[in-house]
Amino acid sequence: MTKRAYNFNAGPAALPLEVLEQAKEQLTDYKGIGMSVMEISHRSKEYEEINQTAQDLFAELLNLPAGYKVLFLQGGASSQFAMIPMNLLTEGKTAHYVLSGSWAKKAIHEAKAIGNTVIAAEPEQFTKVPDLSGLNLGDDAAYLHLTSNETIEGIQYDSFPDTGNVPLVADMSSDFLCRPLDVSAFDLLYAGAQKNLGPSGVTVVIMKEDLLTNIPADLPTMFRYDTHVKANSLYNTPPVFSVYMVRLVLEWVKNNGGLAAMEQRNKEKTDLIYDVIDQSNGFYRGTVEEASRSIMNIPFRLQTEDLEQQFLEQATRNGFIGLKGHRSVGGLRASTYNAVPRESCQALADFMQQFMKDNG
Ligand code: PMP
Repeated sequence: MTKRAYNFNAGPAALPLEVLEQAKEQLTDYKGIGMSVMEISHRSKEYEEINQTAQDLFAELLNLPAGYKVLFLQGGASSQFAMIPMNLLTEGKTAHYVLSGSWAKKAIHEAKAIGNTVIAAEPEQFTKVPDLSGLNLGDDAAYLHLTSNETIEGIQYDSFPDTGNVPLVADMSSDFLCRPLDVSAFDLLYAGAQKNLGPSGVTVVIMKEDLLTNIPADLPTMFRYDTHVKANSLYNTPPVFSVYMVRLVLEWVKNNGGLAAMEQRNKEKTDLIYDVIDQSNGFYRGTVEEASRSIMNIPFRLQTEDLEQQFLEQATRNGFIGLKGHRSVGGLRASTYNAVPRESCQALADFMQQFMKDNG
């Protein structure tokens, strides 16, 4: 048995062991062709098959309605922050953004560099998702952008607004495929792969093909969605190995019961940890209101930074990786993406109990 760390990294993050074993087995000889996937042409029939199967698996897992295209792009979700307004924020329109946390803030910064951008909703503090019930989107709204899960703050929506005719765009980088999703509510969604989908290097974009009609004529080729739709994500050399890994991860999701099963497992996993926090009489402090708690990222604090430091040091000695909060907010954070096994979460819950006993 391979000895595995209790990996709570925020991204790049844990991958399913079965997927890693499969990749290892195929590493030097992919399906008897005498070459690695990293050595084949992206125009080969082997890659065509990987590219197509990965798209088909997204369609199957998400019950993707007709009229949507799955794209594999590069430049991370961060490039989508700019590419979305470049393509969709047309003359005379205003981009609307929900400011829900650190990643939304970065998306807004990029949109402002491209054109008229307004904040449609923001909470007083990043301790809950903003209330989107009374959203007022003007006639000039190019789209509404939201961040379905704020990776740093650990805030996640449990439902999404109906934006009528205004396209709804979502950054799902840190919770894509963590639960069932009605894609028909969205016009464009995107996710960097390195949390729930595979290794870094590929960004998945799922978009309604209707959005392609108004793309400004003067955009450079690589930054136009229609380029990649027309070329089936093969306009230039794609990140072949990353897409191959995403395909394996999608097969793993399917073989493990699909998105409903992922959600159930994720809830059970995170309950183990939230329960310790809630029953600790304030020894551990969750930083998010209960209704907005994420089933992907659990930020929490101890009474003092010294104690947090001790927690981290002891956790590291016990095989726990990635529990330090993001440098911008401090504290602690456990990321519990799809591939993080329940056993890791149980081990963390046990460790937290023990640490409290020893230091409470
Ligand atoms: N959005 C969210 C919600 C994220 O968590 C991240 C990465 N942590 C990004 C965007 C940026 O992704 P990338 O590093 O792929 O550009």
